[in-house]
Amino acid sequence: MTDCLFCRMVAGDIPADVVHETDRTLAFRDINPQAPTHVLVIPKAHHRNLGALAAADPDLLGAVVRAAADVARQEDLVTDGGIEPGYRVVTNTGPQSGQSVDHLHLHVLGGRDLRWPPG
Ligand code: IMP
Repeated sequence: MTDCLFCRMVAGDIPADVVHETDRTLAFRDINPQAPTHVLVIPKAHHRNLGALAAADPDLLGAVVRAAADVARQEDLVTDGGIEPGYRVVTNTGPQSGQSVDHLHLHVLGGRDLRWPPG
């Protein structure tokens, strides 16, 4: 979709600080980080949110989740097979959640104590 910000980043039309890439996924640093590590993981194909991707292509959803776990290891938020220091994966769906880009993205957050519940 040419009017989608994240599709344009996948296409290379808009620069992205890419930290991880597979044939079907892209991960890049959030432009307005909310934690020392704040990476967005997206499917390269356009799906507007979690439910849309789960319905259309569950294998791709698995690939996006695997990429998020890989990013967490790569960013030293967990060691192989471990849970320390830990991280959070969150995705917003719809206006009440604060979703501002209608292309599914998993936020991978870590590097500080994360409060619960989120705001
Ligand atoms: P949402 O509010 O859950 O939809 O998350 C969208 C995220 O995209 C926000 O955390 C923004 O800071 C981030 N964002 C918006 N534009 C860019 C960009 O050009 N590069 C990287 N991140 C962006």
